[in-house]
Amino acid sequence: MLNKDHPRYESLLYRQKIVEAHKNGILADSGLIAHGRGESYDYLIGEYTTDNAKNTINVSACYFLTRKNPVLSVNGNTTALVAEDIAQLSKLLDIPVEINLYYRTDERVRRIEEVYKALGVEQILGTNDDEFIDTPELNGPRSPVSIDGISKSDLVFIPLEDGDRAEALTKLGKTTISVDLNPLSRTAVTSTVTIVDNIVRAVPELIESVKHYQDYDRKELQKIIDGFSNKTNLDNSIKHIIRNFE
Ligand code: ATP
Ligand code: MG
Repeated sequence: MLNKDHPRYESLLYRQKIVEAHKNGILADSGLIAHGRGESYDYLIGEYTTDNAKNTINVSACYFLTRKNPVLSVNGNTTALVAEDIAQLSKLLDIPVEINLYYRTDERVRRIEEVYKALGVEQILGTNDDEFIDTPELNGPRSPVSIDGISKSDLVFIPLEDGDRAEALTKLGKTTISVDLNPLSRTAVTSTVTIVDNIVRAVPELIESVKHYQDYDRKELQKIIDGFSNKTNLDNSIKHIIRNFE
């Protein structure tokens, strides 16, 4: 049992979720390591959503509300930490969830599918029944994407994505919105929009932002998008970390 008075209670709670997901066959071994890398950056950021990240989340909400076919790409870590929020976002925007694993196995896909089904998500793609197409320039089990999902989409939400895949999707002309605590990762650098924040804080905040902007005029949303620079966003994120060292 975790003690709520522990100064690192929340961090321990998420670790426990990660460990449970690993035991339940949802998370690959390397997912444990990826979580650790994320934690270290979160420590440097100060474990809160910065104003810069909030702004980026608002820009992301504007993108979701102006694109035709957004897809929420999910992996083991995302499912372990924020499956409920992903289900809520999928319902709010009426968009599919696509299971998209780096180390894809039928068993892991089935387990993850069960999680989203139990949460009432109706549009689940990337399952073992789906039809796939390979992503150009990527090989192995990380390459296939759903023909009805990511392949046709104009906007892909890629929390905790690998750099090669993020780059391949951007090269295909997709708008990519990533969530990555490391502002220096290839994913962060190659995405259209990079939310430098912990996914456990970013997705609930994104839901609130979508609710806030959903009745705005399209032109106003586009203006917010046009005023955004991901380069400035990443520079601000790095400066924030440097300031914490001073
Ligand atoms: P890249 O492949 O993009 O160059 P990487 O190899 O370091 O970077 P991966 O291990 O492929 O990245 O993916 C894990 C990424 O997810 C890391 O950048 C890590 O900081 C980030 N990450 C891990 N946990 C979280 C979390 N809870 N919230 C946000 N980001 C996270
Ligand atoms: Mg990587």
